[in-house]
Amino acid sequence: MSRFWSPLVEKLVPYVPGEQPKGQTFIKLNTNENPYGPSAKVLEAIQAATGDELRLYPDPVAGGLRDSIAASFGLTREKVFAGNGSDEVLAHAFNAFFTGKPRIVFADITYSFYTTYCQLFGVEYTTFPLNETFEYDLDDYQGPCGGVVIANPNAPTGIALPLEKIEQVLKQNSDVVVIVDEAYVDFGAESAVRLVPRYENLLVVQTFSKSRSLAGARVGFAVGQPHLIEGLNRVKDSFNSYPLDRLALVAAKAAWEDAEGFEQTRSKVIASREKLAGQLAELGFSSLPSATNFLFVSHSSVPAAELQAGLRARGILVRHFSKPRIENWLRISICTDDECRALVRALQEILQ
Ligand SMILES: *Cc1c(COP(=O)(O)O)cnc(C)c1O
Repeated sequence: MSRFWSPLVEKLVPYVPGEQPKGQTFIKLNTNENPYGPSAKVLEAIQAATGDELRLYPDPVAGGLRDSIAASFGLTREKVFAGNGSDEVLAHAFNAFFTGKPRIVFADITYSFYTTYCQLFGVEYTTFPLNETFEYDLDDYQGPCGGVVIANPNAPTGIALPLEKIEQVLKQNSDVVVIVDEAYVDFGAESAVRLVPRYENLLVVQTFSKSRSLAGARVGFAVGQPHLIEGLNRVKDSFNSYPLDRLALVAAKAAWEDAEGFEQTRSKVIASREKLAGQLAELGFSSLPSATNFLFVSHSSVPAAELQAGLRARGILVRHFSKPRIENWLRISICTDDECRALVRALQEILQ
């Protein structure tokens, strides 16, 4: 507390990111980074951009990157917005479409940044509980409301909704913006990007942090009809004209165009996920069906907090949320084969 804080800052409860440890070498399975680094092509592109031109500001409209993303979806750049991580894109979207509107709606168990942005921008919200198996009941999502936010696949549960269900939400809420946060879509869900031409209220948000191995570069984007993208640009240009630096722009463009590197790491992650789910089941864990690069698991006899502490003592970080309904669950990011072996060994030890 400080007497210099504004009343708004006094009341903020900031989002708490997963730990990024320094010094000690942990196996990091707590923030859903890609276990595999960027490809040689991406690293070469970054190196090629490391020179005298860093004294110049980057392209304020991120034209090259937006063209590249748009082209792969058969769209033009007017339908694509790029920002400093999808967190920033989401923040701008809340500000552009929800501030000053009626209550927005989202699930009780979902990405916790949504409530943080609501506080920051003074947006009221209502949450609808997922059912006992952590699935959506979309009958809840029938207006009136000021907007809808759905993470698909959802986090931290990992469960994906089929595209018809997303379409149902779009139709049930045709007068407000529906944000579909697809941070994990490449690991097993169907993207709503192809619905963009048909729904003027749809904004799809994706990130380079997970499936494109670039969490350290901070790049995210949104796809929507030009009137929505223009709303985002109005906020962006009232906040920071250059949210993406030169290195991030070239890294993201190279990663987007490196279809082979993307396919390779994505399929390895999916295969490791299925294998790890089987191994954890043998140890007495239940896991939700994951369409992401993490597993959300709960053990039949040992509390999640205890497992998390035991893993930490053995040099492995996983994520535990001390929140109602999920306090006995752990979110474990999918890892390399060596890391998976270390994880299973550590769990066997703890459970003995
Ligand atoms: C990781 C994540 C994001 C944010 O990713 P950025 O690194 O900011 O691009 C957004 N939504 C969900 C559900 C996430 O898990």
